[in-house]
Amino acid sequence: MATLYARAAGDSIEKLADDPSCARALAWIDTSAVWVTDQQIHLTEIPAPEFKEAPRAEYLKKIFEAAGLKVQLDKLGNVIAERPGSDANSVILLAAHLDTVFPAGTDVRVKRHSNRLTAPGVADNGAGLAALAGVARALSESRIQTTKTIVLAGDVGEEGEGNLRGIRALVETYASRLAAVIAVDGASTEHITTQGVASHRFEIAVTGPGGHSWSDFGAPNPITALSRGIVKFSAQPVPDDPRSSYNFGMIEGGTSINSIPSRAAVKVDLRSEDEAEVNKMERALRDAMQSGAREEMSAAHDGQNTLRLIVRSLGSRPAGKLPDNAPLLETLRNVDRFLGNRSRLERSSTDANIPLALNIPAVSLGGGGKGGGSHTTAEWYDATGRELGLKRLFLATVALAGVQP
Ligand SMILES: [Zn+2]
Repeated sequence: MATLYARAAGDSIEKLADDPSCARALAWIDTSAVWVTDQQIHLTEIPAPEFKEAPRAEYLKKIFEAAGLKVQLDKLGNVIAERPGSDANSVILLAAHLDTVFPAGTDVRVKRHSNRLTAPGVADNGAGLAALAGVARALSESRIQTTKTIVLAGDVGEEGEGNLRGIRALVETYASRLAAVIAVDGASTEHITTQGVASHRFEIAVTGPGGHSWSDFGAPNPITALSRGIVKFSAQPVPDDPRSSYNFGMIEGGTSINSIPSRAAVKVDLRSEDEAEVNKMERALRDAMQSGAREEMSAAHDGQNTLRLIVRSLGSRPAGKLPDNAPLLETLRNVDRFLGNRSRLERSSTDANIPLALNIPAVSLGGGGKGGGSHTTAEWYDATGRELGLKRLFLATVALAGVQP
């Protein structure tokens, strides 16, 4: 694994910012927040539901090309821009996910009231993608020569059932050359996500004989079976430490109000800071759903033993943690000190999970500005102060990549 040789000491960020090439980039950021916001609006208004990121990827490719970068699309649809350093064997990867949680057909037009933008996906990950575009341009304005190679990537499959397939492929491609990975996700400058939360996702389906609501009354009902299981699982406590969570996020089944359904299914997301806890929750979930189905069958007047439970994995994200004394974290803290930015360490489930699980130094950072209502159609972004987020990402990238005299 490539190592981060020089720890960026506090004053080294100051020296870096004084370097004429860096100063050019920082000056560009000061005058170009409007351009970055325009890119954000354009990117957000190109729908990018899971597995349908291609049109948005195409636009990001154009932005990278306009910044003078060599760009390619890999077979999954990741957009990859490389900015070669003097050492091709050492890579700093900045990745922002292209996809959103919103299905095709969602109105993604951005409503704008001065600095405040409202649209599904405008912050997650419109803000991250726009920041990546800003860093690409700032690097090009700087004409800086770095030691390590900088790779900027828009990746597919972070949300929903994508199972982090985009970042998995990027990490596989660059493998031992990766010195550090920064996942740029959402807005804000207030956090450094150093811990990846583990998650397991499932679809649990129950099938049965179905029937007429009146004439077959008493036959086991898959919706009722699922409901019994959900109630059983939800009645069990979830630990605060390690912090853990679950969500029954989607439920479907049945064909009409007066038919006993022959199938029902629910999608569940289990998360914990500790992988062992997720495994424990998974066992408890399977037991609860089994027991719910059994209870429904034994309550049935006829058609007993005709329910089937089918558990399908929709993906799993490994846990991982950046050590508190990691040079990457020290560099970020020095950048924050230089910029007068206060940040706290956070845990989350992001693209950074994958490198962290492989002990590759990684964090997730926001793209600057403020945002909220993530994963809802009321999602918003406020571009006020976005320059801070851009400078933070730019300086961190350049400090990690090392400047050639
Ligand atoms: Zn995101």
